[in-house]
This record gives sequence, structure tokens and C-alpha cells, in this order.
Amino acid sequence: MYDQNPVFIPGPTNIPQRLLGAMQIQTRDHRAPDFKDTFLPVLEDTKRVFGTTTGQVITFPASGTGGWEAAVSNTLSPGDTVLVARYGMFSHRWIDLCQRHGLDVQIIECPWGAGAPVEVFEAALKADINHKIKAVLVTHNETATGVKSDIAAVRGAIDAASHPALLFVDCVSSLASMPFEMDTWGVDIAVSGSQKGFMLATGLAILCVSPKALTAMETAKLPRTFFDFKDMMGANANGGFPYTPPLQLIYGLREALKMLFDEGLENVYARHHRLAEGVRRAAEAWGMKLCAASPDLYSDTVSAIYVPEGFDSNALTEHAYSAYGVSFGIGLGEMNGKAFRIGHLGALTDTMVLSGLATIEMAMADLDYPITLGSGVAAAQEYYRKSKGAAMSVAA
Ligand SMILES: *Cc1c(COP(=O)(O)O)cnc(C)c1O
Repeated sequence: MYDQNPVFIPGPTNIPQRLLGAMQIQTRDHRAPDFKDTFLPVLEDTKRVFGTTTGQVITFPASGTGGWEAAVSNTLSPGDTVLVARYGMFSHRWIDLCQRHGLDVQIIECPWGAGAPVEVFEAALKADINHKIKAVLVTHNETATGVKSDIAAVRGAIDAASHPALLFVDCVSSLASMPFEMDTWGVDIAVSGSQKGFMLATGLAILCVSPKALTAMETAKLPRTFFDFKDMMGANANGGFPYTPPLQLIYGLREALKMLFDEGLENVYARHHRLAEGVRRAAEAWGMKLCAASPDLYSDTVSAIYVPEGFDSNALTEHAYSAYGVSFGIGLGEMNGKAFRIGHLGALTDTMVLSGLATIEMAMADLDYPITLGSGVAAAQEYYRKSKGAAMSVAA
């Protein structure tokens, strides 16, 4: 079996050869005096991707879910109220995690395809005159629906209510692919992971924590041991780790940051926007609708696309995999069977995305979808030809 076909799932993403190489290192002693010379600059450089100078980067050996757990358990106490909107599978799972930690979760139900409900948040915060709500939790990029929320507007709602709540943001599927401005947006904890925009193997939760969240940590009572910020920051300050660090991922992250900075973060974001726009034009040419309710919500890292009535999106993704060896994202939760997802984040070029569009068209044609072979590819080609300029350099 060849492994040259890219995956079009929205994470884990394709790992470029350069990063596979960077992660392929022999064991080194993390207690050696020079480990800190490798590790500390990585933490420092990661701040640039979060858009912060005042935040503190903290990593744990975990997937993104571990990052959520770290955020919640380090800053909140049993019975604390948090405000969250549910508009997809990832916001749903974050709610579930809070409930299992004994928090009082004030849930705002939204249709899947909507973004964070800024006005409803503002009203809820204004009504909370005793400031029982300790944190507002927002999923920046809802990977299930392909919806990007406006984090600056959520901060605006908190400020308009003059409310002291912390703002926690899940940016697992947006960081290092779409603009993120932790300081400007007033984010208190941002949670990400190694296997999406950073193009690495899964296994490193990457967080950034504001001074305000660190103050909240001092009085927060939820239990934490493995995910203790204090233990981690204390060890990190001397260039160490409270337990065994995932060395290969740290070396990988160092190289991933070099790749992102070599290309230029602005160019990385522009490339993701172009790739996404080509996919959206393809969906339009097929006569298919995105789950995202309006263009301002369109995600530049993943598109969730409804299949026509009477077709089963699971049969489509299964056929693309079994007949052509290419993976696409399935519809999650209530979209299962009704939509498939094209992940377009990480190490991807125009050429790679066109191959994905061509493949899913073949799978659709095999299953008698009412589409014209080549129509989506042509729409994306037209767009890529006309918008090229910031395309990923082959040499980089
Ligand atoms: C991938 C993802 C996560 C984390 O999932 P893990 O499998 O634990 O890494 C969280 N939120 C969003 C929006 C994601 O896309």
C-alpha cells in the first residue's frame, strides 16, 4: 500500500517529510543540562502563533482533550458556573467534560451551522449580576460543522456586560492555520494540539494562559495532578519537565515553528483561505450546501458539505477510502450520514486539494450522485489560477 495519498480529514493532518524527519530522533536525556536550550525557545516561539506577548505557553503530553481538562481543572472549583454554547460535536464534548468535573454548565443551544451566539452571551452575562459565571467557553473553529466563530466579538460581549468571567477558547483546529490574536481578543486560555495546524503527530496539548487565568489558578479547587499548571511551569522555568517529556514531539514542534515562520504566518493564513475558497467553489459547482449558515462563518480549515437528499454520506466516505484509498471526514453527531467533511488544513498545496476534489468526484459519480465529473475541480482550478501568488513554495 502506498502512503502518498494525502488525507482530507480535519486532523490529524498530513505530516510533511521535514517534520517526520525532525521527530525521528534517538532518545536524549531530558535531564541533561542542555535540554533547556532546545525546549525553552520552543515555548517562547510558540507565543507568536498564539498572538501573545503576555501569555504563558504550557504543554502536556496529551491530545487536545487533555488541554481542555487542564484549562478547566486548573482555574475552576467544583460547582462553579461556566457559560457555553453548543453548536457542534466539539463544543458538545467540552460541555460534557465540564459536567463530569462537577461544574454548573449554563448551556445555550444553537443550531449546528451557527457560530458562538454573541448577543445571547451578552444578555446572559448582563443577567448574571452576582457574577456566578466564572468562565465563558468558546470553540473558535467547530470542526464538526466547519464554522468559525468571532472571538473578538465574544470578548466584546463580556466587556459590554462589564463581567469578570474568564474567556477560554478551543483553537485546536484553527491555530497555526487561521489568524489567532490571544492578546487583542482578551483570551484567558487558548487550547490547541500538535496534530492539526502544527502538522505533527498527535500527543502534545499546547495551551496558552493569560496572567488573569494564572491568578484564578491560585484559588481554584478542582483536583489536578498530571495536568497541574503550577508543576509544569515550575519545572519549565528551569528548563525541565515534571515527568518525562515527549521529546520527539518537542523537536517536531521546534521544526514546525521554523516551517511556519519561514513561510510567514500571514502567508500560512492566506494559503489556508485560498485552499478553503477553492473547496467552497467546488461544493457550489456540485450544487451542494455547506453546513456553515453564512459566509462570515466559513472555516478556512474544514468544510462540512451536505450530500443531496436520499444519499448516505457514510457510503460516500467509505467508497472514497475503499476504492481510491483517500480519507475524508465523516459527518459527526447529528450530521452523520447527511454530510461529509473535507479537511483543508496543515501541509497542503493547490495540487493536493485538487487531487482530493477529483477523488471525491469520482466516488460521487460511482454512487450516481447528480454531479458532472470535473465540475468541482474546474471551479477550484479557475479560482486557484486567478488567486495564486501566495502559494506554498515547493522549496521551503
Ligand atoms: C481535534 C479537536 C479537538 C481535540 O481532539 P483530540 O482528539 O483530543 O486532539 C478539540 N476541539 C476541536 C475543535 C478539534 O477539532
